[in-house]
Amino acid sequence: MADYDYDVLIIGSGPGGYVAAIRAAQLGLKTACVEGRETLGGTCLNVGCIPSKAMLHASEYFDAAANGTMALMGVEVTPKLNLPKMHAQRLDAVKQLTGGIAFLFKKNKVDWLKGHATFTSADTVEVAGKSFRAKNIVIATGSSVTPLPGVMVDQKVVVDSTGALELPKVPKRMVVIGGGVIGLELGSVWRRLGAEVIVVEFLDQLLPGMDMDVRKEAAKIFKKQGMTLRLGTKVTGVTVKGDTATLTVEPSAGGAAETLEADCVLVSIGRRPNTEGLGLDAIGLTPNARGQIETGPDLRTTVPGVWAIGDVIPGPMLAHKAEDEGIAVAENIAGQTGIINHAVIPGVVYTWPEFAGVGMTEDQAKELGEIKVGKFPMLANSRAKTNHEPDGFVKIIADAKTDKVLGVWAIASVAGTMIAEACVAMEFGATSEDIAYTCHAHPTHSEAIKEAAMAVTGKAIHI
Ligand code: FAD
Ligand code: NAD
Repeated sequence: MADYDYDVLIIGSGPGGYVAAIRAAQLGLKTACVEGRETLGGTCLNVGCIPSKAMLHASEYFDAAANGTMALMGVEVTPKLNLPKMHAQRLDAVKQLTGGIAFLFKKNKVDWLKGHATFTSADTVEVAGKSFRAKNIVIATGSSVTPLPGVMVDQKVVVDSTGALELPKVPKRMVVIGGGVIGLELGSVWRRLGAEVIVVEFLDQLLPGMDMDVRKEAAKIFKKQGMTLRLGTKVTGVTVKGDTATLTVEPSAGGAAETLEADCVLVSIGRRPNTEGLGLDAIGLTPNARGQIETGPDLRTTVPGVWAIGDVIPGPMLAHKAEDEGIAVAENIAGQTGIINHAVIPGVVYTWPEFAGVGMTEDQAKELGEIKVGKFPMLANSRAKTNHEPDGFVKIIADAKTDKVLGVWAIASVAGTMIAEACVAMEFGATSEDIAYTCHAHPTHSEAIKEAAMAVTGKAIHI
């Protein structure tokens, strides 16, 4: 240890990096975490998961009052939007949670090195003019917004997700480029607060990667809520004059172009790994064609002593995936066996209702062999029905021979919470029968999971 400043130095303090740092420190390793931002917590806590959920939650209340859902239950109110206050509670959530990581670093004796880290050799990085040498270095630099060629984000008329969290007034007309997770979550926020929202999506369905039944249902639900969907359409250019943007759009398959006008354009066409300025050349590490750093299953890169986790490596760009990799990399560095099951990583879209899934889609499962599918509508779930939440369903996909659960998909007001049960079941190698014969509390939305499992063998009770 004599020549080393640290056993482990982690670059980036997002959910991958900060969790790795805390776990490494718990395991008795001398640990530092370098962060280029002013505050800890990465994209997730500063400009991602947390502030978006603060705006989604607050706007849900506004919408419930404005769209008549509350009136249905005998609560008649006319909501008045105080947008500065809504933003203030978002910023407060961010402040408290990023401050919480600083507290945890102190508690666990993790050194927070402030500045941008650049490799000068495989065991040394430079931060704010100082060199730090570590036995192990973990790259947890995360990702940034993918730009749309020829479209300038000015964070006023044309915004990315960060700008869309902070709009100082509700746009009259917002065009969202990309019908993925960010476009639908942040588009929902501003639609609920009064904007006319048009989503332009290149593919013929929203939410790539999710089960096709879920994607089709998503289109119906968002249309019903008042969003205009332009599926199978691509944006080829955006020009801004004063406060107005003019977008040129054309069918993805080719055809006549047309224009759309908006006072706000959200560019949400994906994210790309952060490797620029990291000095990867200095250590002979070359990102793959998608700009990601490749690792083995143990999260080692091809350079001895250098590891990588989170959005910067292949796999879904999700905070909980980064966190689990953070724990695993620390345990591997400490000589333990870090475990992550990449086949069981849930995905959730936090709109109303929520869209969630884990494991295989029906199409993926069919490619592997014969399957059975059980489906149960939320309309037939007593709690959802009572709460005036009729949209959605649970769908369970099981192997036809072994009955092993291969995938679970849910659309429900609390689908993001419900999907945890499916993850545990799949981790334990459950069959649909195991779920069907597990007692679920009544009346809960989760009973729809039990009923969908019962439906796999045609014995659901309430349909
Ligand atoms: P990041 O969180 O991106 O953190 C990397 C950190 O490294 C950054 O703080 C960066 O400043 C720092 N850094 C980079 N390079 C250097 C360097 N050279 N030196 C020093 N520091 C450096 N995921 C979910 O699971 N659920 C959600 O609800 C969700 N909502 C989201 C909403 C939005 C609007 C966005 C944009 C993303 C959302 N995500 C969500 C995705 C989630 O934020 C990411 O998957 C997650 O933050 C990735 O964690 P990470 O640790 O790999 O990287
Ligand atoms: P995404 O990959 O989810 O969706 C991007 C969409 O843009 C795709 O549907 C794609 O077909 C479309 N697209 C691409 N080019 C286009 C064009 N020129 N015109 C029209 N459409 C176009 O990406 P995102 O929504 O930007 O989110 C980025 C990442 O952040 C995702 O990987 C996601 O995992 C993560 N994230 C997660 C959550 C969550 O877990 N709830 C929330 C926000 C972000």
